[in-house]
Amino acid sequence: MSNEKAYYGQFGGQYVSESLMNTLAEVDAAFEEAIHDPEFLKQYHYYLKQYVGRETPLYYAERLSEKYGTRIYLKREDLNHTGAHKINNVIGQILLAKRMGKTKVIAETGAGQHGVATATGAALFNMDCTVYMGAEDIERQKLNVMRMEMLGATVVPVHSGSNTLKDATNEAIRTWAKTAEDTFYIIGSAVGPYPYPKMVKEFQSCISREAKRQFAEEVGGLPDVVMACVGGGSNSIGMFADFIEEKSVRLIGVEAAGLGIETGKHASAMALGKPGVLHGMKSYLLQDDDGNVELAHSISAGLDYPGVGPEHAYLKDSGRAEYVSITDVEAMDALMELCKLEGIIPAIESAHAMAYAFKLAEKMTPEQSIIVCLSGRGDKDVNTIADYLAGKGYLN
Ligand SMILES: *Cc1c(COP(=O)(O)O)cnc(C)c1O
Repeated sequence: MSNEKAYYGQFGGQYVSESLMNTLAEVDAAFEEAIHDPEFLKQYHYYLKQYVGRETPLYYAERLSEKYGTRIYLKREDLNHTGAHKINNVIGQILLAKRMGKTKVIAETGAGQHGVATATGAALFNMDCTVYMGAEDIERQKLNVMRMEMLGATVVPVHSGSNTLKDATNEAIRTWAKTAEDTFYIIGSAVGPYPYPKMVKEFQSCISREAKRQFAEEVGGLPDVVMACVGGGSNSIGMFADFIEEKSVRLIGVEAAGLGIETGKHASAMALGKPGVLHGMKSYLLQDDDGNVELAHSISAGLDYPGVGPEHAYLKDSGRAEYVSITDVEAMDALMELCKLEGIIPAIESAHAMAYAFKLAEKMTPEQSIIVCLSGRGDKDVNTIADYLAGKGYLN
């Protein structure tokens, strides 16, 4: 492929059908124009402030810090409208869709969090909204299906492959190829063909832009470590973005180790994946010896993705960021710890990052500091947590 800017090292690219190449070029041109237009940026920041509720606090978790022996700060994305970071990106992409004259949006969703954020944005901006969701996930995530329908979206069940997120994404891409004239595809993570990884990073980078300034004002200087959980990689790339050039800051992405990476039931694409192509991009993917994409496995639906965004694959290979993994059990222990010591019920996804923060803190000094991206709140996970605590564990 000749389009060099579409790549992060060997990763990224535009592995899509010929008919979508033009569409992607149009999206890229419109995006580049928009983010250099003060009017667009003004609108975007207006909705982030007045609708989403930004900026989110950088909260010093005093009791956790005392217990674990280093300063722990939480970037409170859980306080955003709709309960997670996904809305930051949806507002940006939907404003872009409007600017391009589109009247319809489509999205894929796994657990339903991105679907809910997209349905929310579509209601706000009066766009027709269709969300593709695996039939299996529709069954598992009834609450979010109801929320999307209340917000006016049509949820389309996808019956193919494993009936989950991977298949819903394929269906959304296929539909887009036929309807791009009036339809914008809102991708929910830092994945997909170029320019999506770039756009999602841009719209999530408010997380690190705020955190960097807040840390400088409240504490002074730079944190020693910045970390976030990694599903497709959007909250983490947003948390890393403004620190990538600050070489003294360690960047750590935390993947889901599920039942343990040695069991084969996990979602650690960085630890055990190999480079391959999925959803229009080249990146690290969980795959078998024949190159078939394998099912990911995690107690948290939002980390249950067999790949990772291409810039993360590049940050890993270049050594700028480190990637580690945390099991279901470790994440659930960290989740309960955060409830009891700070009065915050985190999303199970975010609890993975917390769990690694606790491990790392024990090797750090009381003067050092970690910022953890608390990507979302745990209300959506209460049933899963109840099942887990009842000793049923995670059966799949
Ligand atoms: C979707 C989701 C994630 C995982 O997605 P990323 O793109 O890796 O950020 C993490 N946390 C929460 C709360 C989510 O809803």
